[in-house]
Amino acid sequence: MQRSLGDPELVAAVEAAENFRILPDATVIKIGGQSVIDRGRAAVYPLVDEIVAARKRHKMVIGTGAGTRARHLYSIAAGLHLPAGVLAQLGASVADQNAAMLGQLLAQHGVSAVSAAGLSAVPLYLAEVNAVIFSGMPPYSLWMRPAADTVIPPYRTDAGCFLVAEQFGCKAMIYVKDENGLYTDNPKTSKNATFIPRISVAEMMTRGLQDSILEFPMLELLASARYVREVQVINGLVPGNLSRALAGEHVGTLITAS
Ligand code: ADP
Ligand code: MG
Repeated sequence: MQRSLGDPELVAAVEAAENFRILPDATVIKIGGQSVIDRGRAAVYPLVDEIVAARKRHKMVIGTGAGTRARHLYSIAAGLHLPAGVLAQLGASVADQNAAMLGQLLAQHGVSAVSAAGLSAVPLYLAEVNAVIFSGMPPYSLWMRPAADTVIPPYRTDAGCFLVAEQFGCKAMIYVKDENGLYTDNPKTSKNATFIPRISVAEMMTRGLQDSILEFPMLELLASARYVREVQVINGLVPGNLSRALAGEHVGTLITAS
């Protein structure tokens, strides 16, 4: 107890300890803000139906993105020279709104939105109804670590959802967005973009794709993860994709830690 926390023997002891997964049977799903929820009914209703059906076979911890309303807030607040920690709070309020809406849509199926995913009653909800909704923004709030060159909070909902999956030692992490996965370029603006079915974090970085379909810090988190060593990005606008990904099928882009 007198030694430093960087003590090599302590580090070795931690490494020697057996891994322990808190929620090994659950899959964390992030429902995109801009890419899915902002599309409204046409995108959200079919996914709600799919979640209700999938719940018979899978345990799901469902996080929400923020999206266009957050981008609007960020641009106003950045113009007012407000700092990253304030923007983080504003962005979180939008992810909260999306979690509240998804929670209302799933209420009749007994699925609740929780105000903080940091365990609370999450295990109980999973045991009873196989699903729970949370707001995807990590609660760093004013303590958000600022980026060097921008006031946009670097850790947003892609990172927030990943951290839930990793800390709980979940089975898988699925990002539900509006493209089939990762492309060589943004498919919305580049006609020549080609699809990449599988890629590692290191390859994404050398190819300059580190801030494309997922937030940059999330890739660093994945590279050093202990439990969740790959994530899948899928197109949630294609019916059946979510159920197939939950069953372990490769239907989008697999991004691997190594
Ligand atoms: P979310 O709604 O989960 O926050 P985003 O809108 O932030 O999702 O990210 C998904 C979007 O990323 C896609 O709609 C796509 O237009 C864009 N994008 C940019 N670069 C790429 C790329 N190389 N491959 C795939 N999508 C990309
Ligand atoms: Mg995003």
